[in-house]
Amino acid sequence: MNAKDIMMEHINRQIGLFGEPVSRASLPTEYKPFRPAHFEVSRIYLTKGSVATPERRRFIERICAVYPEAEVRECLNTPHNRIQLDESDALARHRRGKHLLVFGELQAAVRFSQESGIVCPNYWHFSPYGFCPYDCKYCYLGGTTGVKFFPAVKVYVNIPEMLGNIDQIARRRGKPTPFYLGKLQDPLALDPLTAYSTVLVPFFAEHPLARLTLLTKSAHVDRLLGLEHREHTILSWSINPPEVSAVFEENVPSIDERLAAMRRVAERGYPVRAIMMPIIPIKDWENVYAAFTRRLVETVPIQRLTLGGVCIYRSARMLMERKMGADNAISTHIANGAPRTGDGRARYFREFRHTAYSLVIDTARRLRPDLELALCLEEKALWQSTGLQRPGRCNCVL
Ligand code: SF4
Repeated sequence: MNAKDIMMEHINRQIGLFGEPVSRASLPTEYKPFRPAHFEVSRIYLTKGSVATPERRRFIERICAVYPEAEVRECLNTPHNRIQLDESDALARHRRGKHLLVFGELQAAVRFSQESGIVCPNYWHFSPYGFCPYDCKYCYLGGTTGVKFFPAVKVYVNIPEMLGNIDQIARRRGKPTPFYLGKLQDPLALDPLTAYSTVLVPFFAEHPLARLTLLTKSAHVDRLLGLEHREHTILSWSINPPEVSAVFEENVPSIDERLAAMRRVAERGYPVRAIMMPIIPIKDWENVYAAFTRRLVETVPIQRLTLGGVCIYRSARMLMERKMGADNAISTHIANGAPRTGDGRARYFREFRHTAYSLVIDTARRLRPDLELALCLEEKALWQSTGLQRPGRCNCVL
C-alpha cells in the first residue's frame, strides 16, 4: 500500500456510510517504526490495558523491536500511573524517567482546561502521549504531580476511544471546536515510533467540526507531508533564539531544524504558528530577541505568534535550579516574595514582561503588520498595556 492508500484506509475506518465520523479509528499498522531523534530507551513498561487486544499487542511489539537493547517489563495489572521508580532523589528520578517508555491506557484523555485568573480561554485538550523525551530546563511539566513521581515518557494506545470522545464533544457543541495537543506532552517527538499523526490528521481533516491545534518542538514532520489535512490541523512550534535554546533546552531539535520543519509543513498548506515562550532575559536579550524575531518573521510564513514569559510552579522551579543553579536568567528575574499572579504561578515582574513583549511585538509588526499576535497565560493588564486587540485569541484556540 502506498501512503495515500494507507491514509484512505484510516479515513474509511473513521467515516461511516453517510459521511458521519464514528469512533472506529484504529491504531496505525501499515508503517515502519524507527528511532526518533533525542530518545534513547533503557526500559519499556507494558501496563494495564496496553496489550488488551491483538491490535494493541501488534502495535507495541513492533515499537519494542526498535529498541532491542531495552528491558521490557510486563506489569499488566498495574495502571500506568501506579508504576513507581526506586529512586528518591527528584533530579535523579527525572533523568532516569527520560529513558523509560511506558505503554498504557489513559482514561478521561480528553479534558477541558481549568485555567483561571488569566485571560486565556479554557479549551479542550487530549493526551495520546504523556510527557516527552526532551529536556528543557524550564519545563513546567516536571513539577506536575504525575510527572514528578514517575517522569517517564508515555504512549497511550486507546487513541480510537479518544477520537470517539472528540467526535461526540464537537457534535454536541455544534460549532468548529479546537482540540489541543501539546499541553501535557510533545505531540510529534514520538511520531517516528507511533505514526499517530497518520490517524489524527486524517480524522480531523474529515471531521465537520473538530479541529486539531498542536504544539511541538519536534522536527519529525515527514509523515505529515503526504496527509490530506484541509487546514483542519494547525501546527505550532515552540521556539526561542538559538542563544537561549543553547542554554535552556537540552536534548531537543535545534532551532534551525524547527524552523526548517515549519517551512516544510507550510509549503504543504498547513496553517503554521509559533509560540515564543518563555522569553528569557539572557545577556543582551533585547538584541538577541529583536534579531530572532526578524529572522522568524522573514523566513517562516507563520499566521500567528504568541508570546509568554515564565509561568512556573514551585517544584518545577526547584528542579530547574537543581540543574542550573539559582543564579540562572529565569530565577533572577522572578520576583521572589512578590505576590503570585491569579493562577498561582510565579512570573517575571510585570514591567519586564511588558518591555519584552513590546519589543517582540514592535519588531514583528514592522515587518508583518498582518501577523496575528497574542500572549500566553497572561493577565488582562498585559494585553492592554501592549496594545493587543483580541485577548484570548492565542495559540491553543482557533
Ligand atoms: S518540549 Fe515541552 S514537555 Fe518536553 S521538556 Fe520541553 S517544555 Fe517540557
